[in-house]
Amino acid sequence: MRVTILGFGGWVSNPLLGQPAYLVEEGDIRILLDCGEGTLEKLVKCTCLDVSSLSFILVTHAHGDHLLGLPTLIQRAKYLGKRLNVAAPPPVVGSIRELLSALQIPHYMDYVVVTELRAGVWVRLNETVRVKAINAVHPIPSVSYVLRVGSKTIAYSGDTWPNNDFLREAEGADVLIHEVSAPPGMVEEARLHGHTPSEYILDILRKVRPKYFIPTHYYVEPPQLILSRELCSLSGTRIIFPAQCLSISVG
Ligand SMILES: [Zn+2]
Repeated sequence: MRVTILGFGGWVSNPLLGQPAYLVEEGDIRILLDCGEGTLEKLVKCTCLDVSSLSFILVTHAHGDHLLGLPTLIQRAKYLGKRLNVAAPPPVVGSIRELLSALQIPHYMDYVVVTELRAGVWVRLNETVRVKAINAVHPIPSVSYVLRVGSKTIAYSGDTWPNNDFLREAEGADVLIHEVSAPPGMVEEARLHGHTPSEYILDILRKVRPKYFIPTHYYVEPPQLILSRELCSLSGTRIIFPAQCLSISVG
């Protein structure tokens, strides 16, 4: 399995970081997690793939840095005569419809095949992929995802205050992509806005014990992790500092 980072900033971070979008590949299966602005460009630039290669697009919530790339992906799918498989919780699906209406292209929903994901329920997307949405702790309807892709498990936090429901489900994941939005010293701001402070990462990793940990969704500038000796010496977990187009193979 391969995970490629297309964008890993937040909505107002350094623009060079890009907005959240992560591509998970296993054989012919390609799953896009979130699609912030510029996702199509980065998909092409980083992977030479087009939207017709995407098996599924999973969206965590309707904030712009996770969703505003989708209309362009749909435009491209329409141009290619394809339809996109988009999976998201019902409120997010509603936001996608509203967004396309606001852009004066409501009929572009015809180029989307929707799978509604209800929190707490495992859903089989095809023979190889199962996904469970877990309600996130964020000011608007949001979820985290745990995916089983073949024999591998990917856990993606989306935007959330540290959430034990998600961490329990993510335990032992091959790859954990977890947001670390808040720089050190901003715990209360993070709580207020439903984001994860740097100070909580060690606790999160101790609970999940992933093989690979990709810290993402930096506000301001990376890295916003506290690189304590404990964090660096966590046995069994490799920390991958993200960069645009960085790709890791998970054996
Ligand atoms: Zn965000």
